[in-house]
Amino acid sequence: MLFSMHEMSLASNLLEMLRQEMEKHGATRLIEVRVCYGLLANVVPESLEFAVMALTEGTPLAGAKVTMQPIPPLLRCIGCGCEFEPGEARLAVFSPCPQCGEDFGHSVLRGKELYLDSIEVM
Ligand SMILES: [Zn+2]
Repeated sequence: MLFSMHEMSLASNLLEMLRQEMEKHGATRLIEVRVCYGLLANVVPESLEFAVMALTEGTPLAGAKVTMQPIPPLLRCIGCGCEFEPGEARLAVFSPCPQCGEDFGHSVLRGKELYLDSIEVM
């Protein structure tokens, strides 16, 4: 199982947000949490899921279902301004523009985010 400090710290931030949300709604038990992550966010979903499980063990948040929802990247070509979704997510930043063929220096409009999408509580 892949496991890193990076995911550990991301998970810890997410859980902090989770606790605040639950407090706001007076919830005591977490049933399911859905996390959206951009494919360029440098997140390994399995590792993040595992980190969340490890950090919630023995707490009221334990046992919740963690769903990781990927967000495909959206780039804007530096050459012609065209906005496009690159095919190969891993190398997305270096994908060729479908209009002019430029393959370097695009701006990332979407795909680096990481946030709590929804939670189900009791
Ligand atoms: Zn272009």
